[in-house]
Amino acid sequence: DQFADNHFIRTIIEDDLQSGKHAAIQTRFPPEPNGYLHIGHAKSICLNFGLAYVFDGKCNLRFDDTNPEKENQEYVDSIKEDVQWLGFQWQGEPRYASDYFDQLFDYAVGLIQDGKAYVCDLTPEEMREYRGTLTEAGKNSPYRDRTPEENLDLFMKMRDGAFPDGSKTLRLKIDMASGNINMRDPVIYRIRRAHHHNTGDKWCIYPMYDYTHAISDAIENITHSLCTLEFEAHRPLYDWVLDNIPSPSQPRQYEFSRLELLYSITSKRKLNQLVSENHVSGWDDPRMPTISGMRRRGYTPEGLRLFAKRVGISKSENIVDMSVLEGAIREELEESAPRMMAVLNPLKITLTNFEAGKTQSRSAPYHPHHESMGEREIPISSTLYIEQDDFSENPPAGWQRLTVGGEVRLRYSYVIKCDEAVKDENGQIIELKCSIDHDTLGKKPEGRKVKGVIHWLSAEHAVPATVRLYDRLFTVERPDAVRGDDGEYLPFTDFINPESKQEITAWVEPVANTLQPESRWQFERLGYFVTDRKDHEVGKPIFNKTVGLKDGFQK
Ligand code: ATP
Ligand code: MG
Ligand code: MG
Repeated sequence: DQFADNHFIRTIIEDDLQSGKHAAIQTRFPPEPNGYLHIGHAKSICLNFGLAYVFDGKCNLRFDDTNPEKENQEYVDSIKEDVQWLGFQWQGEPRYASDYFDQLFDYAVGLIQDGKAYVCDLTPEEMREYRGTLTEAGKNSPYRDRTPEENLDLFMKMRDGAFPDGSKTLRLKIDMASGNINMRDPVIYRIRRAHHHNTGDKWCIYPMYDYTHAISDAIENITHSLCTLEFEAHRPLYDWVLDNIPSPSQPRQYEFSRLELLYSITSKRKLNQLVSENHVSGWDDPRMPTISGMRRRGYTPEGLRLFAKRVGISKSENIVDMSVLEGAIREELEESAPRMMAVLNPLKITLTNFEAGKTQSRSAPYHPHHESMGEREIPISSTLYIEQDDFSENPPAGWQRLTVGGEVRLRYSYVIKCDEAVKDENGQIIELKCSIDHDTLGKKPEGRKVKGVIHWLSAEHAVPATVRLYDRLFTVERPDAVRGDDGEYLPFTDFINPESKQEITAWVEPVANTLQPESRWQFERLGYFVTDRKDHEVGKPIFNKTVGLKDGFQK
């Protein structure tokens, strides 16, 4: 199966099912709706939904929505769309951590009554000071010894809006001397008068991530709570919370390494900056490593799932070159995309021995291995376009394309010979005069070998199309990890590639005028292209270049 690769989490689950610890597994994908999903999330989606699929379990989609200022409905909607587009369906309705605000509040009340949580009046600065450092224990807050009665009264007043924003917090009473800073009386509630996309103005206190996440998992009977490695140091807190409330279930957290992509960025916050500062046209700009951007670029769900499988799951660093992603996309499109010919930079050819005004045609399959994709007629007439790159006046050794006096086969058609290159007054070649060998249609030429085959179009039959060519968005491998002379990080926006997008008018086969948006094609010898999801209209083709046919970023 497509998720069959073995990894340590899969082994843990197999053991848990075999030992009877769980009868079935329940996972979740828990995005915060503060941006669009990116390639890193695709890895996590494939892991969580993939495991549920493989083991006949279930996977929830849960919005971790505890930061109302940064979250909104647009992000919620885009996340749902992206998960489904990747080919997955969550169990039942999407969940929201905010659906559990009442229960989270009740558990907090229970912790206060048990003497395990207290209301603290330290300012954020004071709190930082009291927290200590990696090498130095923290100090107890002067408010730590408030009685449960006093704490309960203050917490109710916090909820009822009696105190200004940020003036008090609710903290767990754990251990200010813990070697793990996360265990030094972490804050679990803060006062924040902010409108929430789901709960509106009902609350002016909001629970913190760690507390919310653990309890949400427990409420949903999550068996294996999978997250990225930066949460490893939060796991003791996750367990502490569940051990100190009457928890409905006992989920376990497991961590794996985050995916990072070279020449790219995997952080919603930074991607948001690219959008809000107009460095790109939107979250779904085809250069963006967002799922919706990659979709618009022409990547397929199957290709992205193949990529996720290839990068694997482990605890070691997972920094991946773009070629791994492109390789998976290319490999999948190779089988699924029909072919057409397109000429991006046209050079005109006049066939001197082909009757002007005459048209002849020959049928060619849309895919070399898939007859079911059908075939079309490829017309030839006396004026053709070929790619400028396919002609050279002074070719290097081993040149198999066209040159004066040389021969080449037109794909699916005749062998032609170039007799003359016509130049304008500046010496620019503007036209080639060629002759056809009438005896070479579907046949090898006699007495000589013609190795080169080039793509071409009949000028009279070709239709124009807008084609957008893309290059990598950044000029350096790690745009968010470059330091200046002073040792400080430079803004990642300093490394945006100014030539990452180019728009040209090209010639394509007439079939292009019949295509719906999001039709994926191979332009023979050039690469994979997709009709733009938003701007393409039937009869007005606009293609985005998805990926070249070969590895690398040559143009
Ligand atoms: P970002 O910094 O981009 O906002 P995040 O981790 O805060 O990322 P969440 O919305 O909280 O984003 O993530 C939802 C899930 O996706 C989490 O379980 C998280 O661990 C996982 N995830 C996020 N980024 C990556 C990544 N680069 N590689 C693998 N998993 C990721
Ligand atoms: Mg997060
Ligand atoms: Mg984040």
